[in-house]
Parts: sequence; C-alpha cells; structure tokens
Amino acid sequence: MNYQHLLVAVDMTDDCHTVIQRAIELAHSCQARLSLVHVVEPMSMAFGGDVPMDLSALQQQQIDQARAQLDGFTASHAELTKDNTHLAFGQPRQEIHRLASEQGCDLIVVGSHGRHGLALLLGSTSNDVLHGAPCDVLAVHLKKPE
Ligand code: AMP
Repeated sequence: MNYQHLLVAVDMTDDCHTVIQRAIELAHSCQARLSLVHVVEPMSMAFGGDVPMDLSALQQQQIDQARAQLDGFTASHAELTKDNTHLAFGQPRQEIHRLASEQGCDLIVVGSHGRHGLALLLGSTSNDVLHGAPCDVLAVHLKKPE
C-alpha cells in the first residue's frame, strides 16, 4: 500500500472531521500528498430540475459558506493549503472522479455510514463514488445515523 496522492471528499457534516483525520494519518504513513474536495450541488437538482424561482442568491450563499468552511480546514490542518483544497460545483460522484483523474490521485477517501436496504436506496454518495472510480476508494466507517 504505497499511495502517492490522496483525495479526501468531504460533505461538511460533523462526520467529515473523522474522514479528514483518517486521510491525514494515511497520507503521513504513505508519505503521500493530500488534496481535499467539497462539491456544492446545484439547488435545482435537489428540487428535481424545474424550479419556478430564482435560486442564484441562495446558491451563491451556499458556495460562500462552503468556501469559508474550506478556509477553516486549511487554517486548522497544516497538510491542507488553498492550492490543494478544492470547491467544485455539480454532481458529487462526477466531480470527485473528475478531480481525482485531473490531479492524478491514486486513492479517494470518503466517509461511509454503512447503510443498507431502504436507506441505501435513498442514496449514498460513498456508494456512488465507488462505482466507476478512476482509482482505489477507501470508505472510512462512520457511526450510523440514529
Ligand atoms: P453519504 O453517503 O451521502 O452520507 O456521503 C458519504 C460520504 O460521501 C461523505 O462522508 C463524503 O466523503 C462524501 N460526500 C458526500 N457528499 C459530498 C459532497 N457534496 N462533496 C464531497 N464529498 C461528499
């Protein structure tokens, strides 16, 4: 296991600190580079495409908030800098795969709640990222939501 460039994908929930910490530890033990990405999803996507109102101000607010959170990560982890911390816009699976390929990453690190059955049908980004990934994917086990 000699990874050279890890990409940790974060969703900005409280759990993401566990995922970042694991990625940092792994990057240290492999002496690998570390990049981080958060993907802001288009609000129109969440509402199923056709929304009869202008969401651009709200969307911009979400992007600004995400940027501020990313700045917080770079301030609190020496391993993360503005250059290796990315804010993407689009569909998480697609953007995470694109960035991993573009940056030449050989491991994507995501969090996983280990959902199964109906809960999995509701959508799991970690499961989504696994399929068609351009490199290995590590799913960091997180506590299941109550
Ligand atoms: P989920 O399966 O949706 O609970 O998400 C599990 C993991 O997928 C998170 O811990 C992150 O690693 C990743 N993830 C989910 N949403 C995003 C996002 N918008 N941007 C980047 N990574 C994400």
